[in-house]
Formats: sequence, structure tokens, C-alpha cells
Amino acid sequence: MCTHCGTCAGLSQGTVTMRETPWGPQPAPTPGTQPQLPEAAWLACPGRGLHYPELTRAMAGRLPDNWLIGCYRQLWIGYSNVPDIRRNGASGGVITQTLVYLLEQGLIDGAIVVRQGQPRPWQAEAVIARTVDEICAASQSVYAPVPVNTILAQVADFQGSLAYVGLPDQVASLRRLQQLGHPAANKITWVLGPYVGTSTYTAAIESYLRSNGVQSLEEIARLRYREGEWPGYLQITTHSGRVLRAEKFYYNYLIPFYITRSSLLSVDFTNELTDISVGDAWHPRFEAQRAGFSVVVARSQQAEAVLADMQHQGLVDLQPVELSEALAMHGHMLDFKKRGAFIRMAWLKAAGHAAPDYGYHPAHIPWSRHLVEIVISSIFAVCGTYTVRRLVELVPIGILGPAFNTLRKRWKDASKPIKRKGLRDIAFVIDPPADRMNPPQATPL
Ligand SMILES: Cc1cc2nc3c(=O)[nH]c(=O)nc-3n(C[C@H](O)[C@H](O)[C@H](O)COP(=O)(O)OP(=O)(O)OC[C@H]3O[C@@H](n4cnc5c(N)ncnc54)[C@H](O)[C@@H]3O)c2cc1C
Ligand code: SF4
Repeated sequence: MCTHCGTCAGLSQGTVTMRETPWGPQPAPTPGTQPQLPEAAWLACPGRGLHYPELTRAMAGRLPDNWLIGCYRQLWIGYSNVPDIRRNGASGGVITQTLVYLLEQGLIDGAIVVRQGQPRPWQAEAVIARTVDEICAASQSVYAPVPVNTILAQVADFQGSLAYVGLPDQVASLRRLQQLGHPAANKITWVLGPYVGTSTYTAAIESYLRSNGVQSLEEIARLRYREGEWPGYLQITTHSGRVLRAEKFYYNYLIPFYITRSSLLSVDFTNELTDISVGDAWHPRFEAQRAGFSVVVARSQQAEAVLADMQHQGLVDLQPVELSEALAMHGHMLDFKKRGAFIRMAWLKAAGHAAPDYGYHPAHIPWSRHLVEIVISSIFAVCGTYTVRRLVELVPIGILGPAFNTLRKRWKDASKPIKRKGLRDIAFVIDPPADRMNPPQATPL
């Protein structure tokens, strides 16, 4: 159930290392050492599931009015007004712009970000960026798992306060460590994060390369997942100077073949435990303009104040958006997480397997939604087999991408009535925290 967050390695004093495997980075004993893990590594492991209601209460002092988005104060559609930051960002560049603002205002001394291209061109790793240039160099999304929380080892020695960008499981783990009073975690005073639907194993890139006649990751000189104008394209440059390029909606065909297990078992799409979370503003009105638009969620008081000041200084453009409109932009993915993941976890448990425990579950999921899940999960199961993965590489990319996109749209339209039915009003039942999950102390932001 490892989500590849990296927390255990980050707390292990070098005795545990995240090792690359076909199923993402996994913790393993560092050769020549005896693993030494503090209890906090166990308590803050998101693979087991962390108690979201308790973490939310600790952060916001209350439970959400709407569990699809979590606790929030304000919602906007926006983008950075700095052209380079907007263009180089995954959507509107709001995360990068906010980090730059925090650094320039002296509110932080560094930012934990993910830098694509390190240590190898196809890999990515967490770094502490100390300058504006370093923050900007880490913009855009990385769709393969990166064990960001290994950085906690470096944070322990860092002098000053930090901002942090992480995926929902990484953020939940960090928040749990903060609850536990972990000194390194408490140096992080700002938590930002993207909305996260799915990520894919590195094998997805290998498959894409093979489809294009490139046999090895070693041939990659540069890789960017969201290059060019929003929504951007996957762009890979090889050492021989060849440039492979696929539009975002076309290379999404890789998702059913290589989706990570943690994407299937995560219930947090909007990064509910951050100060600020940001997603793509998927709406025909914005997509037609390209340029880059984000949906921006301010969840804490400090986030609201900072975004208001950035707006005042003309650094960002932020237009308020109704909750219903913001949710409608991501209806399918919200359903995938807030109902689909719970169905998938129930199936795992029924089959005698372990599944994460998030401390809450939907009160009711209609039978029609269970039927849709049988179709979705069957597609993932078939597409994830070795034979089908290799067969798909025989189809020319020029046909595969557009064909997948058309099928995706048809499936979305066909399943929309069932997926949206009852979603907006879905009620959740809070499970009592097991003793092992009880926070020692709740600290509001
Ligand atoms: C795996 C993944 C899946 C996503 N799925 C969706 C989705 O389904 N729907 C949707 O609307 N949006 C999704 N997003 C969010 C979207 O791609 C943008 O990240 C978001 O809109 C923020 O855009 P921005 O221009 O403000 O970010 P930028 O200004 O480009 O900044 C992005 C920041 O995120 C950090 N980052 C990038 N990748 C990772 C990573 N893997 N782990 C930790 N930090 C990272 C970078 O270091 C950078 O600081 C996803 C993002 C990721 C990483
Ligand atoms: S989920 Fe994170 S803390 Fe848990 S085992 Fe995996 S890397 Fe370690």
C-alpha cells in the first residue's frame, strides 16, 4: 500500500532508501545498515491511510461543509501575471508565483519543490530551492511518483522556514508529523499542492518511447510533462536530437495501462490539507483561450491574506468562482476518488487484502455506480497486463492518441449521468479514530 511518499526514508537517518522498482519507488534498507525507524514513520505513513477527519479538524478547527473539496475559505480561477511563470507553469503558474512571492517577501527561506531532470533526465527529485530561479526551474507537473518526503532528512539541518509543495498523500503525512510535533516538519510553514487525479509508473514513459522506436530511457536528454502553451504536451528530446511530442490529452492514453496503485486508492483529489491547492481550470471557456488557467483554493487564513496581497500587487489575476462551478470542472475525478476509491477499497477488503483507512466513508453509493466501477476496474485490469501493454505499442501514436481521446470523451458522456447522480449531495460517515491514529494534540493553522 506504499504511496511512495518517502516519509519513512526521510526519518530513517539514512538507514532506509527509496529504491526504484517497476511499481514506483519503494523503501528498502540502505545496503550495509540496519533500518532504524522512529515511531513517527509508522504513525505518519499514508500507505496505511491517515485519519482525514482528525487531520482536517486539527488544521481548520472544523470538518468540511463539503467533503468533495474539503475545508476552504475562498475559491478563484486565476493565473500568474508574470508571462514566463504563467507559460512555464503546469496550468496558470499560481503555485510557482506564490512560492516566489513568499521568498521575495522574506516569509520563507526556501521552498521544497520537485525538479524534473534530476538525478537522471527522466527522473525527478525533491530539492530545497533557495532562489527565485531555482523555484522557477521546478515549475510544471511531474506525473511519475516522486518520494518528496525523503527531503525531511535535509530539512532537519535547514536553518529557517520553508514552503513545501506535495501531493495529497505526502501532505497528509507531513500534517501528521506536524501534529506529532516533529521538529523538521514544523520548519514547514506553508504547504501548497496540486490537485491530483492520477500518476503513472515510469514504465509509461518507456512504453511511449518504444512506441516511437526509442528503446531505452538512457536515450532521453530532456523530458517535460507540460511543455508549451496550456494544456501543454509531453516533450522528450533524445541525445540524438530527436524531439517526441504528444498533446496532454493524447498521452493520457497511457493512464489505464500504467496508473499507479496509490492513484486508485487515494480519496483526496483537491489536496485538502494544504494552505493553497491548485488544479487545471478545465472549462471550454478557458480551454479555448489556452494561455493557462488554474482553479485556486485558499484553505487557511494566511493563504487567503497572501493571495489577496498578490492580487493587490498585480502578481496574479484571481476571479472568484462558485463552488458548484469549481466542482463541475472536475466532476469525473471527484467521483473517481470520493466514490470509486471507496468501492475499490471495499472490494480489496472483501477479498481479504489490506486497504488504507482514511477514517471516513460514503454513507451510500448507488448500485449503478458500483456497476460503472466494474467497467472501470476491468479496463485497468486488462490494460495493466504485460501482453496488452506491449500490444498497444504496435499501434501508431498518431492513431492511438486521438482514438483514446475520442473514446475517453464518449465514455465520459455515457457515464456522466451515473457518475454525477447524487455526487454533489453525497454524505460521509466519520469512523472513530483508532487509538493508533489519535493525534496527541491538535494545532489550528
Ligand atoms: C501527479 C499529478 C496529477 C495531477 N492531476 C490533476 C488532475 O487530474 N486534474 C487537475 O486539474 N490537476 C491535476 N494536477 C495539477 C496540475 O497538473 C497542476 O500541477 C496544477 O494545476 C498547478 O499548476 P500551476 O501552474 O500553478 O503549477 P506550477 O506553477 O507549474 O508549479 C507546480 C509545482 O508542483 C510541484 N510538483 C510537480 N510535480 C510534482 C510531484 N509529482 N510531486 C510533488 N510536487 C510536484 C513543482 O515542483 C512545482 O513547484 C496534477 C498534478 C500532478 C503532479
Ligand atoms: S507510504 Fe511513505 S511512509 Fe509509508 S512505506 Fe511508503 S514511503 Fe514509507
